[in-house]
Order: sequence, then C-alpha cells, then structure tokens
Amino acid sequence: MSAATVIRYSLDGDGVGWIVFDDPASRVNVFTPAAQDELDAAIGQAIASNARAVVVSSAKERIFIAGADMKWLASLPDAATAAEFSRRGQQLFQRLNELPVPVVCAIHGACAGGGFELALACHWRIASNAPATQIGLPETGIGTMPGWGGCVRLPRLIGIKPALEHILKAQLVSAADALRAGFINECVAPAELPARAKAAALELVAGGVPPPLPAATASADYLATTRASVEARTRGRQPALLMAIDAVEQASSLPIAEALEIEAQLFGQVSAGEICKNMIYGFGLRDAARKRTLAGWFEGAQTPPASSGNREGGKRAPIRKVGVVGAGVMGSGIAQWLASRGLDVVLRDVQTGALERGLAVTQGLFDDAVKRGRMTAENAAASRRRITSTTGWEGFETCDLVIEAIVESTVAKRALFAELATVVRDDTLLASNTSALPIEQIAGGVVNPARTLGIHFFNPVSRMPLVELILAPQTSTDTAGRALALIKALGKAPVICRSSPGFLVTRVLFFYLNEAVRLWEEGVRAAAVDGALREFGWPMGPLRLIDEVGVDVTGFIFAEMGQYFPGRFVRTTACGRMMAAGLKGRKSGSDGGFYRYTPTEAPNEVETRRVVGPRPEVSLSGSEITGRLMRIMADEAGRCLADGVVKSPEDIDFALLMGAGFPAFRGGLMHWARTTSNPRSGVIT
Ligand code: NAD
Repeated sequence: MSAATVIRYSLDGDGVGWIVFDDPASRVNVFTPAAQDELDAAIGQAIASNARAVVVSSAKERIFIAGADMKWLASLPDAATAAEFSRRGQQLFQRLNELPVPVVCAIHGACAGGGFELALACHWRIASNAPATQIGLPETGIGTMPGWGGCVRLPRLIGIKPALEHILKAQLVSAADALRAGFINECVAPAELPARAKAAALELVAGGVPPPLPAATASADYLATTRASVEARTRGRQPALLMAIDAVEQASSLPIAEALEIEAQLFGQVSAGEICKNMIYGFGLRDAARKRTLAGWFEGAQTPPASSGNREGGKRAPIRKVGVVGAGVMGSGIAQWLASRGLDVVLRDVQTGALERGLAVTQGLFDDAVKRGRMTAENAAASRRRITSTTGWEGFETCDLVIEAIVESTVAKRALFAELATVVRDDTLLASNTSALPIEQIAGGVVNPARTLGIHFFNPVSRMPLVELILAPQTSTDTAGRALALIKALGKAPVICRSSPGFLVTRVLFFYLNEAVRLWEEGVRAAAVDGALREFGWPMGPLRLIDEVGVDVTGFIFAEMGQYFPGRFVRTTACGRMMAAGLKGRKSGSDGGFYRYTPTEAPNEVETRRVVGPRPEVSLSGSEITGRLMRIMADEAGRCLADGVVKSPEDIDFALLMGAGFPAFRGGLMHWARTTSNPRSGVIT
C-alpha cells in the first residue's frame, strides 16, 4: 500500500487538525500495519502544523473504525509477536493521548475493538446517534481480548465492574447506550457531528485538556465471583475471558505504562493460541455468509454485488408479502420473524385452534423482543399488525412468496403444493420449510416448477441465525436469487444446499444422534454419553437433544433416513419403543424421555431401560464416546461434500456452527477433523 492512502491530515482555518480515516480501497476502515504507520505520520503532521486541537474522524458512511485487520490478527505466529502487535498499537494511541493539545474523537458508524481503543485514548468522545453507530470492545467474542489499551482505559473511565461486564459480553452498544454507560461524552445527530466535534475541540482549547484518567479498583469479592462464574460456564474453553479479567484486575490500579505492559503480555498469550485462531476462523465464515452469492450453483449465474439488499443483483422483484402455511412451532416463528423485518404476512392453518395458538406464539415472541430491548413496543405492535390469519386462502393471491411449514409428510406436502399452485399467482415463489424431504419430490409437479425451492429455518426461528437455501433441479436462478436476497434482508445467515435427503444439517446431525442412541442401546448410560459430548463443547448432549427435538420426531426422522440411506443408516429402535410408551421427550403430555424433568431434571435410565429392554451397563471413556460419535458426524459431512450437497468444507463448518451449536472454540466440524491429530483413531482431544 502506498503512503497516505488510508488517512488524510489537514489543518483548517481555525487551527484544528483533522485526521480522517477513509480507506479508498474498502467500504470499511481497519487497522493494518500500513494504517498504523499513517496514523503515526498524521500525528506527526498535527504537531508540525502547530494544530491547536485535533479531531479524529472517518469519512465512511457506516464505519468509524472496525478494529484490527482480522487477517493480520489471525497471522500472529506466537505469543511474543502477538505481544509486540499489542505494544505497537498501545504506543501509537498513547502518543495521541499525550499530545499537548486536545484530541476529540468524532464517531459515526461502527467503532469496534481497536477503533474504540483509539477513541478511548482521545480526550473527548462524541458519537452520532445514527443506527449504524455501534460502539464497544467485542474482542472476547473472537477468542482474544482488548490489547490496545481497552483493558486499561475503559475501567478507568467507567469503573471496573461495568467495564468488565462489557468486555466479557463482547457486544457493541448503540450511541445512546454508550452515552448512558459513560463510553462517550456526547451524542448528536449525524449532520451535527463535524461541527460539534470542532466546537468541542475549541472549548477544550479554552478550558484545558481533561486530566489523565485515575486508577480504578474493584472489590476482590466481585472479581473472584466473576472469575468463578466464567470458569464454571466455560470450563476452560474460553481462556480469553479469564485473561481479560486478569488484565483488568492487574492493570487498572498501576501507572499507565506498567498497566499497558501487563495487557500486552496477556494479549500475547491468548491471541497466539489455537482457540483464538479457531474463533477468528468462525468469524470469517460469518462474514463470508453475509456476502454469499449463487456463484457456482447455476451455469452462467452472475455473481450479485455484495450489497444486494432485497434485490439480489439489483434486477429482481423484491418480496414484500409472504404466506405462511401451518401455524405450528415453525410457521408461527417464521411469521413473527418476517413481520418483525417489515414484511406483510398471512398465516394459515387448517385448524382454528392451531391458528389461535400460533398467533398467541407470535404475540409472545414480540413481547419477549420488547422485554429484551430488541424492539420498541411501537415497532412490535406495528409488526404484529402486519400478520393476518386465515383457515382459508384469503390474502394468498397477493403473496410474492409462500413458505409451507405443515407436517413433515411427502404426501401432505405434495397435496398442499398442488392446491397452492391453484390459489397463488403463477410467479409466486413456493418454498418448503421441510427439514429433510427432497424439494423435487414435494413440489416438482406444480405449474411453473422453476419457482419452487426449500427455505429451511431452524428452531427457534427468532434465535437461530442459519437458514438452508435448498436448490432443487427445477429451481431457477431468479427464484434462488430472490430467496437469497430475502434471507439476507431478514438478517439470517444463508448456506446453500443441493436438494437431497436431509440436506446438510439434518443429515449430519441425525447420523450422529442415531449413533448416540446405538451407544445407549449397547448399555452406555445416558449421563455418560451426554457428559462426554458436553465435555467436547456441545451445549447439550445428543440424548438430551433428542428429548428437546422430541423422541417421536427423532424416531420419525430416523425412519426416513433409514429409507434414504439404506445400508449406511442402520436405524436404532429405542426411540420408537419409547414413543409407544408415551416417552416423547420434553413435551407437554409426555412423561419425559431419556431424562425426567420434574421435580428436577435427571436421567430417566430406569424407566427407559424397562421400556426398551434391560442392558448391563457398559463403561466407555469420554474420548471413546466422543471419538465414535464425532467420527460418524465428520464422515457424513465429508459424504455431503462428495455428493455435492454443499460446495466447500467451510459451508459445513459454518452451517454446524450456526445451525447445530458446534463448539465455536473448535472452529468448525471439518476444520476440527482436519486439524485434530488423528480423528479416526477414536482419540479426540
Ligand atoms: P407442527 O406440527 O408444530 O405444525 C404443523 C401445523 O401445520 C399444525 O398446526 C397443523 O394443523 C398444520 N397443518 C397441517 N396440514 C395443513 C394444511 N394442509 N394446511 C395448513 N396447515 C396445516 O410442525 P412444525 O414443528 O412446525 O414443523 C413444520 C415443518 O417444519 C415440518 O416440515 C418440519 O419438518 C419442519 N421443521 C421443523 C423444525 C422443528 O424443530 N420443529 C425445525 C425445522 C424444520
């Protein structure tokens, strides 16, 4: 990169020096080694030009500074190099902080990680109140910690407890929240930001630069409790959180130079580690999903531009109204999500009671979103009004898309698609939310089949980011492009799959669940099976997960998978027998499943063994259990790749991270299988 391309410096007529970040080669500003050199040079220019005050700002529409360049961070080879990376950034920001003139930070757009650490080193911070302005230190979310002064300055600015809570949560906050939390001094309308930043700078010239931030302290009890709760929750899988606690505790009360050195040492240790590298890999997958296109899926398909919004490729009609058929668990969740993102929805069920229950579920989801601060009450009420309902077909004639979420049955879905095609427009897209049924078998026979495809949401829709976009042989590029644009506009993370039984996630997951039941049938206790997989890092063991999905649903999908993959999917039978005895899992009207849930949750070993047939206990080590189950999962994922269900190992990693809860600290399923010394030996580290 040639000199002075990323940062501009100029002195205005009132003697205020402007340091403006504006990388012409990118939509975002990030810190690279070259950008750091340029900032250093710009500080030098401010001194040389005798600026009375300095304003640091960005010329980007939606970004102040997004932090350090991820590729650079991912490339740090060892702790010593990573500590040096930290020191270099610290020194640069310290130089800004020690300028003898006031330095004001004018924040508009994302101000994350190193961007906020730069802001913290300035003497005054003003942010625009634009929705794009999001501020904070999200580093622990990618397995590292603030390393350019964030662990030192934020606690001094707002106190150890709130600073640590923010660092451990790893989430950016709005400008209004940042003002409330004390991250910034002022919040103004975007149009007023430059003028207000300059005025504030001149006021500081007159009134003097604020004194250095005082050291901070927190009670030993608070720090011990926080450390213990993080240890219990993460079981050593997220060392960055503990390192951040150490850094804040040790650094907050020391003189600034010593404090920064402690931060650099701890940053070095955590950032060169494997867990940090794995989590940065996962972050890259999420970033890639936002830019996903249909390239490679259709002969001659154009790659749509990155900012496709709801008009993939800029030439396709946007989807504004959606019909959702089936008001059960999935239909109601999908309807609520669509309406919350501004779409009109008509929700249909054949049973009045089911429709009423589904509408009550959507209302509950809106109430919950308001309670959690994700929606305002007004926005939730307006969104709820966008949902109409019917047991007939009123309103479907004006839908741009219909998503069916009725019972998982090829016969029922085929009949529904045939009927649908007679009530909607010829160009209305027709999608199925099926978890496993090939789209061509349920929708291939309708008029204009090119408009059919699968849009597979995960349960619960409001919390699961993944959506599988399923392309059948008949699906047209236009249909796929419109659906992909919609998924992105809904804020969901798409993975594209070729239509085939179980697609990707259901197929891989149910091979794994079936093997977990087989282990249990052989005599390994439920607590041992689930304990081993939780130790691996899954949020829930496989048998506990079956209870959550439903023993009945699982048994049904096992039967389907047995038909689709004869010889390879050797179906276990315990779920069928448990279901016949009323043990359907964690469902109302069920006596439990592999676990009991009242009065407290506990393995239901005695009852399930009585129902299924007794078996002497078999003891296997945790690594033997994990080795067997994870090998099945990785092998099946490899077959999905070989069968062309997805295009790359990264697609698999992404889908299982986002759709199945694969442990993020391991990077992803294929990444883990590739990097684990010998995944086939049965010894899983
Ligand atoms: P559900 O049993 O909760 O709801 C199905 C609803 O469809 C019922 O209310 C039923 O009355 C209604 N229905 C049946 N036939 C209908 C018809 N012809 N017209 C209108 N309504 C009709 O089912 P669910 O769990 O919401 O699953 C729906 C679909 O989503 C299935 O294909 C399932 O495989 C898939 N899916 C489920 C999950 C999950 O975790 N539940 C996750 C992803 C995908």
